[in-house]
Amino acid sequence: MPRGFFFDNTRCTGCRTCALACKDFHDHGPEQAFRRVIDYEGGSWKVADDGTVATDAYGYHISLSCNHCTSAACTKVCPTGAMHRDTMGLVWPDMSRCIGCGYCTMACPYHAPAIDQKLKRSSKCDGCHQRVAAGQTPICVEACPLRALDFGTTGELAERHPHDFDRCTRSIMPLPPKEATTPNLFVLASPAARRAEAGDGRIANREELGL
Ligand code: SF4
Ligand code: SF4
Ligand code: SF4
Repeated sequence: MPRGFFFDNTRCTGCRTCALACKDFHDHGPEQAFRRVIDYEGGSWKVADDGTVATDAYGYHISLSCNHCTSAACTKVCPTGAMHRDTMGLVWPDMSRCIGCGYCTMACPYHAPAIDQKLKRSSKCDGCHQRVAAGQTPICVEACPLRALDFGTTGELAERHPHDFDRCTRSIMPLPPKEATTPNLFVLASPAARRAEAGDGRIANREELGL
């Protein structure tokens, strides 16, 4: 049964509490991040002949980890079967089978898997599968002070967000089109994200994201 994240883009302030809670929970150093926040911005300022200034500038944030995609690119390229979908629908690498080849890191359009340089094995968000198995939510969801994140099966998310779920999309700029992997990511898009569909925006924190 597919499980994934609901993300309310209208609420997210880009505070990064989700990303830091994930780091803390997994005891990650600065070089590792299962969840990251994309800052996206666009538009410009225009000075009119009379000296007045008008702007159509916009900006928003996307909190992103692995989307536990229905058509996961990472599992398709893994030569050993280490990158797999578990019985709860979550996608993660089995360390005992991973050979550290890095194919999964190249296949994922969301840059979710990375090679752990200490272990020389693939490493990525596993949906906090041990917490989920115990009936808890992933640590990032629990930590968000704006309640911008949720996690569950598609049915659970639709039930918990009855007024928003039907309006969700699986992709906003600059995420890849949903056809790439059918991500289990349901985004309630902000007006700024709808404005960005014009295609004039850019990622503002490329260095932070390692892009
Ligand atoms: S987001 Fe990337 S790592 Fe996660 S399931 Fe999809 S393709 Fe695999
Ligand atoms: S790094 Fe590990 S999980 Fe990724 S494709 Fe190679 S064997 Fe599979
Ligand atoms: S903790 Fe919540 S509001 Fe803050 S960046 Fe993460 S999703 Fe956005």
